[in-house]
Amino acid sequence: MFKALVMEQGEDGLATAQIKQIDTDALPEGDVVVNVDYSTLNYKDGLCLSPKGGGLVRKYPHVPGIDFSGTVASSDSPDFKPGDPVVLTGWRVGEVHWGGYAQQARVKSDWLVPLPKGLNTRQAMAVGTAGFTAMLAVMALEDHGLKPGQGPVLVTGASGGVGSVATAILAHLGYEVAAVTGRPESADYLRDLGATQIVAREEINEAVKRPLETETWAGCVDAVGGEMLARVLGQMKYGGSVAAVGLAGGAALPTSVIPFLLRGVNLLGIDSVMQPKEARLRAWARIATDLPMEKLEEMVHPARLEDLPELGALILKGGIKGRVVVDLN
Ligand code: NDP
Repeated sequence: MFKALVMEQGEDGLATAQIKQIDTDALPEGDVVVNVDYSTLNYKDGLCLSPKGGGLVRKYPHVPGIDFSGTVASSDSPDFKPGDPVVLTGWRVGEVHWGGYAQQARVKSDWLVPLPKGLNTRQAMAVGTAGFTAMLAVMALEDHGLKPGQGPVLVTGASGGVGSVATAILAHLGYEVAAVTGRPESADYLRDLGATQIVAREEINEAVKRPLETETWAGCVDAVGGEMLARVLGQMKYGGSVAAVGLAGGAALPTSVIPFLLRGVNLLGIDSVMQPKEARLRAWARIATDLPMEKLEEMVHPARLEDLPELGALILKGGIKGRVVVDLN
């Protein structure tokens, strides 16, 4: 028996979280059982913890947690043996398959990534899906020609999970980072992570008035979408790329094609869920070398399973700073 946060639907159709003891036999199918050390809280987890499951959860009872790290307890796969440290993000685990808000998880071996050297299981979840996605975004910008010295790189939603990790990685790689935040009190935190410029959210979060503005940003990691992304596209330097990661500010993109046609701006879509294994291995290896662990530690807020219903509601309101790490031990 082990401890799990289980979402159960009431007669009114709304789901609530219960902390329960469950049995390994109750876990969904898979060829590897993992003893989970840590999970975390991402925006999507906030949705899965909400009474209607954010449109992501299909069936109850459900164990959320879109990512986790731990050690293999038992394995029917030749790729993993008991004791191997592993990390999992994506593949709709925690949405349609039971996830990491439990002391054990059973999953497909194909979904697991061996923990890279230089990272422990706690650090892996301090990174989590948000940090992994930030790394994918930085890699996409580099693949499209971004190099240090070309000008400031903008990070939107900077004090959130994706934004915090993107800021720390870019600064460590030698980029000049401009961090957009709606929370002025986050300025010192963002400077500690390596941002050299703080941009107030309201300065940039308004409807596009002119399709092209002064060429300002060499690149952008965007966690916000909506009007902010639309505005940023018109502020990119010639040939610059924006990695579109999130929709914290909205899913619409109210803009024109002018920045693409007249400035050769690139809009790069970033998906962390279905990334092929090779790209996952590359991103985790880069995280181990390019994300300073002391900066990662500054982002961490420790939590327990019991704290998650409240924290889940908070992340949906943009109220979480950095990375929540859930200790399952
Ligand atoms: P967080 O809530 O931790 O961060 C989002 C940040 O965006 C907030 O901290 C806030 O930063 C800013 N923000 C929130 N609301 C608004 C608003 N209305 N307008 C402008 N800015 C706002 O979430 P995550 O970092 O975990 O995720 C960020 C986004 O990326 C989410 O939309 C998430 O779904 C998406 N995502 C996508 C992935 C993919 O595979 N493509 C993977 C992981 C996440 P501040 O207070 O500093 O302004």
